[in-house]
Amino acid sequence: MGKDSYEEAVEGLKKLLSEKSDLKSVAAAKVEQITAELQTQSSDSKAFDPVDRVKTGYIKFKKEKYDTNPALYGELAKGQSPKYMIFACADSRVCPSHVLDIQPGEAFVVRNVANIVPPYDKTKYAGIGAAIEYATLHLKVENIVVIGHSACGGINALVRLPFDGTSSTDFIEEWISIALPAKAKVKAAHRDAPIPELIGHCEKEAVNVSLANLLTYPFVRDGLVKKTLALKGGYYDFVKGTFELWGLDFSLSPSFAVKDVATILHWNL
Ligand SMILES: [Zn+2]
Repeated sequence: MGKDSYEEAVEGLKKLLSEKSDLKSVAAAKVEQITAELQTQSSDSKAFDPVDRVKTGYIKFKKEKYDTNPALYGELAKGQSPKYMIFACADSRVCPSHVLDIQPGEAFVVRNVANIVPPYDKTKYAGIGAAIEYATLHLKVENIVVIGHSACGGINALVRLPFDGTSSTDFIEEWISIALPAKAKVKAAHRDAPIPELIGHCEKEAVNVSLANLLTYPFVRDGLVKKTLALKGGYYDFVKGTFELWGLDFSLSPSFAVKDVATILHWNL
């Protein structure tokens, strides 16, 4: 974004706020009234305070984790050398650090809508490209894991939206359309399946599309050829409480195509 467009955006926001100033004072009065009402109720139903939540969360972390692990945080102060790069969905229910008990320093994580890895493209996907380049060339991660999950809103949209050239969103449809090959494959393999079943299959197949897209990055291919890097797919089902992990048997020539799922580990504990 250039300087002008940034300044335009700020001006636009100021204008919007001034237009809404009347509404704002009404809203402020309403908020005060609601807050006062809530404060007269029990402490359990206090209004949510976003600043207080951050503060108490950090205090708990500092006291229970940071202050009790001086060796770990001392090492992390010197640098990082994570073994994993992880792609996970931005969904609030699937934080990989939480689900896989990943500790600080263990994984370089990218989270986005529907845990998608786009193909190599210097202009369209520079943010993702920079993360993969940094993780592979500089941090020298040994594993890239793409983790899909149950009840994924992005994959739901991928299956349900028509992708017929019309678009009702600024970014979402173009972004999730990266995973359209997964939709095509799943629809061909499960012609009569109801939509919810297709979504479930697509949540896993989209992971394979992302693994295939990783092969379009030269530094990823180099790592695979030298066997310093491995790619893995994962699927976390938070409805059933299960996690699957699979490797891919892919050919490095001539088309870098993903073949079949070679090994599947399935934990249902
Ligand atoms: Zn998701």
